[in-house]
Amino acid sequence: MPHDDAACSAEECTVTVSGGSMGGLFTGVALDRAGHDVAVFEQSAGELRSRGGGIVAQRSVRSFLSRHTAVTPQHVTTTTSERRFLTADGDVRTATSDSMTFTSWDAVYRALRDAFPDDRYHTGRRVTDVTPATAAATFADGSERSADLLVAAEGGRSSTREQLFPDVSPEFADYVAWRGVVPESDLSADVADAFDDRFTFYQGTGSLILAYFIPGPDGGIDPGDRRLNWVWYDTLAGRDRGQLFTDASGTEQRFGVPPGKLRAPVERRQRDRASTALPPTFAAVVAATDEPFVQAIYDLTTPSMVVDRACLLGDAAFVARPHTAAGTAKAAEDAVELASALDDHDTLTAALAAWGRDRTDAGSRLVERGKRMGDDRLGLGG
Ligand SMILES: Cc1cc2nc3c(=O)[nH]c(=O)nc-3n(C[C@H](O)[C@H](O)[C@H](O)COP(=O)(O)OP(=O)(O)OC[C@H]3O[C@@H](n4cnc5c(N)ncnc54)[C@H](O)[C@@H]3O)c2cc1C
Repeated sequence: MPHDDAACSAEECTVTVSGGSMGGLFTGVALDRAGHDVAVFEQSAGELRSRGGGIVAQRSVRSFLSRHTAVTPQHVTTTTSERRFLTADGDVRTATSDSMTFTSWDAVYRALRDAFPDDRYHTGRRVTDVTPATAAATFADGSERSADLLVAAEGGRSSTREQLFPDVSPEFADYVAWRGVVPESDLSADVADAFDDRFTFYQGTGSLILAYFIPGPDGGIDPGDRRLNWVWYDTLAGRDRGQLFTDASGTEQRFGVPPGKLRAPVERRQRDRASTALPPTFAAVVAATDEPFVQAIYDLTTPSMVVDRACLLGDAAFVARPHTAAGTAKAAEDAVELASALDDHDTLTAALAAWGRDRTDAGSRLVERGKRMGDDRLGLGG
């Protein structure tokens, strides 16, 4: 039974997690390992599928995998030892030693999903309403669940956040990210070699493209088995966002158009642009991509991550621009810190107050850093 401001000992806390992607699974696994009674509810039916591919495997993500899953981080990551900027002709403008570790969204999702008990991961269950004072959740099918704590890890479009903070909404940053992944085997040896062991960038006017290798779809990390992940930040340059984000079915999307759903003229135009605006190796990579897609870049800040016994976690609370390479790491840190706070404090109220204060600070700082990085790099700064 839920208890009002009682001590939340390791054995006692029942937790409902809404959202079963990274944030929900980091939370589920961290709290489960700490002895809490957690159930995760994901609105999508069936397994989630990667929509892009690459993520920077920050230390907090690697450490989470080592501590809480059966996966050894070295087995699901690729590394680079150099950061390289190219000129428009494809020559090397600068090259600096810099160790980076990358992974794929699907490799981390799979590791987390395998680490969380099947009988407590429920798909096709959408939370439609929450009562923060009692941590109760109501689902789309009309059923309800009570718990000591409710964690909404529902991503940037969280309906729980909209319910708790109706005035907060994502703010478009005036540029988009075109993205794609290419199997290494689809690249010529020269092009694959140019990106091997390098985190490679090209900065144009109002545009920045980067690429790095990530594990293959089956997790392969050896040369030949990997995928090249690219992200091309681009200002709209007079184009209408509504047109760009209208997908092949004619529906205008707010946050982007997923792989395979771009309208043919939009895709053609961006491919043409790639062939003239990018250095030859990057142009070859975009040309070799089967299903490029586009995402809006936006900022999201919430005033507080805690309302009574309901929390917002991961992208539901803060979305920082991808230049920070920190979205997945932030979700992992939110979850680990929540488990620690529950362990460190006598009451749930005290634990949530301390956690909310620290993580809201961290999230706000990250969003501000992302704004500075993005505006500087895209030449949008005031
Ligand atoms: C399917 C998928 C693929 C992704 N692929 C990539 C990628 O390849 N590269 C990358 O950098 N980032 C990717 N992301 C984004 C990345 O996971 C997040 O930016 C980051 O890891 C923070 O995760 P999150 O769990 O807070 O939010 P999200 O990953 O956005 O997850 C939110 C989850 O909550 C579920 N949900 C939302 N509302 C409700 C509700 N009311 N009730 C129940 N469930 C709800 C959503 O269906 C979703 O699964 C992907 C996200 C998803 C959902």
